[in-house]
Amino acid sequence: SKALDTMLYLNGVSVSFDGFKALNSLSIIVKPAEMLAIIGPNGAGKTTMMDIITGKTRPDAGEVYFNGRTDLTKLDEAAIANLGIGRKFQKPTVFESQSVWDNLEMALKKPRGIFSTLFYASDREDKDRILDILETVRLAGRKDDLAANLSHGQKQWLEIGMLLAQDPKLLLVDEPVAGMTDAETVETANLLREISKTRSVVVVEHDMSFVRDLDTRVTCLAEGTVLAEGSLEQVSANPTVIERYLGR
Ligand code: ADP
Repeated sequence: SKALDTMLYLNGVSVSFDGFKALNSLSIIVKPAEMLAIIGPNGAGKTTMMDIITGKTRPDAGEVYFNGRTDLTKLDEAAIANLGIGRKFQKPTVFESQSVWDNLEMALKKPRGIFSTLFYASDREDKDRILDILETVRLAGRKDDLAANLSHGQKQWLEIGMLLAQDPKLLLVDEPVAGMTDAETVETANLLREISKTRSVVVVEHDMSFVRDLDTRVTCLAEGTVLAEGSLEQVSANPTVIERYLGR
């Protein structure tokens, strides 16, 4: 089937709220180790799509296949998270009174399932993984600082690091660069590109220069379905995309 070599496959997903179709037969594919950027006007259904992937919202119709086989629409939120889907919401939620290191260590130790303690890695392995994550999220030099003392952008990176500590196969990221400096925005594109070499990433974003820096496949949603997809150049040259979204 079409789902087999995919990390995420939404097939004809629809959901209505009080008769209003927030998603209208939405179909999306994300391959292993691929990043997809989702753009589109307010109300297009981007958040609803993320809610359906993570099991927060149940679709009225359609399937959501994860890792080529599991239909997520049959599972609850905790089971879906345990399969290896991490979601980064727009606002950072780090433990401000803890160090950067301790935030990552706590994220590492969060139990992922009944049997997780049986397979628990050694302290040495934990330390190496934290050091690795610190490098990835550009916080190696800040490991002993309190999270409260990080910039807004660095807190976002720390939270991405905390999600990486859970070793997700698929990372969902909602408007990560809102409120970041230009330099942090560029660095966030770099780090997400690095992460997507080994994991699938879906980024919902409004900032078009950031989407350009992501340098990846783009899907434009409108009215709960795919309006256009391809490179950013292809999508932003689409007359309907210009009229409905970019040309405002
Ligand atoms: P986007 O994230 O692209 O801005 P959303 O997914 O938030 O779009 O919203 C799509 C549409 O669905 C909007 O019109 C929104 O008002 C509606 N909607 C989303 N979630 C709910 C909900 N839980 N109850 C009622 N309406 C909702």
